[in-house]
Amino acid sequence: MIEDKNQQRTQLSDLGEFGLIDHLTKHFKIKQNSTVKGIGDDAAVLKFDDKKIVVTTDLLIEGVHFDLGYMPLKHLGYKAVMVNLSDVYAMNATATQITVSIAVSNRFPLEALEDLYAGIEAASALYQVDLVGGDTTSSNKGLLISVTAIGTLEGDSEVYRSGAKPNDLLVVSGDFGAAYMGLQVLEREKEVFKVNPNSQPDLELYSYIIERQLKPEARQDIIKLLKDLDVKPTSMIDVSDGLSSEIIHICKQSQVGCDLYEEKIPLDPQVISTCEEFNIDSTTVALNGGEDYELLFTISQDDYTKIKANPNLTVIGHIKEEREGLHLVTRADTRIPIKAQGWKGFND
Ligand code: ADP
Ligand code: MG
Repeated sequence: MIEDKNQQRTQLSDLGEFGLIDHLTKHFKIKQNSTVKGIGDDAAVLKFDDKKIVVTTDLLIEGVHFDLGYMPLKHLGYKAVMVNLSDVYAMNATATQITVSIAVSNRFPLEALEDLYAGIEAASALYQVDLVGGDTTSSNKGLLISVTAIGTLEGDSEVYRSGAKPNDLLVVSGDFGAAYMGLQVLEREKEVFKVNPNSQPDLELYSYIIERQLKPEARQDIIKLLKDLDVKPTSMIDVSDGLSSEIIHICKQSQVGCDLYEEKIPLDPQVISTCEEFNIDSTTVALNGGEDYELLFTISQDDYTKIKANPNLTVIGHIKEEREGLHLVTRADTRIPIKAQGWKGFND
C-alpha cells in the first residue's frame, strides 16, 4: 500500500470535470514543436513535416456510461467508435485510424466480445477508419472500453473552440434531446421488465429516440457538406454533454457572449411527444440532455447564404461581445442566463 501522507481531502465534485482536468494538467509545459494544440479542445493537433494530425480518446465504463441491460454489445462497440470520431470531425478533420482498449471481467464469454467487435467493425467499415491496435486486460468487475481516434487535416483546416467572433452565427447540425429521451424510455422499460419479465414492450413510437441513444452517428457528412459549401466555421465543438455546456465552452474559449433562441432549437417530433409523456420540458432536455453527437459551430455572417437553405443545418443564435453574457431568449421573449450544470460524473 502507498502511505497517504496527504491529509487534505478535496471532493472532486467541488472542482467539476473541467476544473479537475485543469488542476491536474496546468503545470505541464509543451516540450515538442510538433504539439500545435494540447489539452483543451475536442482533439489535440500535432504537426509532423508540415502535415497535421488530430488525436482524441474517450473512456466508457459499464454502469456509468452504459448499461448492458438494454445496450446490446454490438451497439456499444459502434457507439464507442462514434463518440471518438465525433471529436475528430469537431476539429474539421478526416478520421483515419482507431485503437481500442478493453478491460473485461470473466463474466463475459467470447461470443459477447465478438458482438462488441462486430459493432466496432461495422463502424470502422462505414466511416472508413482502420483499427490499428489497442490493449486487452482483465477487470474485477464490469467492462471498460477506451477508443483513441486519429485523423488528418488538410493544410490549416483545423477549427478550434476558440475562434468565434461577435456577430458570427451559431449553427447546429441535426436535432437535440433525442438520445436523452431514448435513455428515459429504455430505463422505464427496464423497470417494467423487472416487474413483469414476460412484457413485450412496443417501442415503435420511440424508434428514432432509441436509435439515437443506442446507435448514434458522428457527423462526417456535415464536415463534407461544409467543405462542399465552401464554409469554414470560425469555431466548432461536438455536442456530447448537452447544448448549453458546449455553448459555454465555445464562448469561454472564444471570449465572447451569445444569444441562443429557444424557438430555433431543432427538436424531433418524437422528442416533443415523449417529453410531454414524461412531463419534462423539451428545451431543458435539448440544453442539458447530452449524447447528441451533433456539431455546434459558428460561421461568419458572410457565409449565411451558403447554408441557409440546407435542411441539415439550423441557425440557433448569434455571438455577442463577452461583456453581454450568454443568454437563452425564450419563446416568451425573456432572457435567461445560460449556466454550467454541475458535473454529473462525480455527483451521482
Ligand atoms: P470531449 O468532451 O470533447 O471528449 P473532454 O471534456 O473529455 O473533451 O476533455 C477536454 C480536454 O481535456 C481534451 O483536450 C482532453 O484531451 C483533455 N483531458 C481530459 N481528461 C484528461 C486527463 N485525465 N489528462 C489530460 N488531459 C485530459
Ligand atoms: Mg468533444
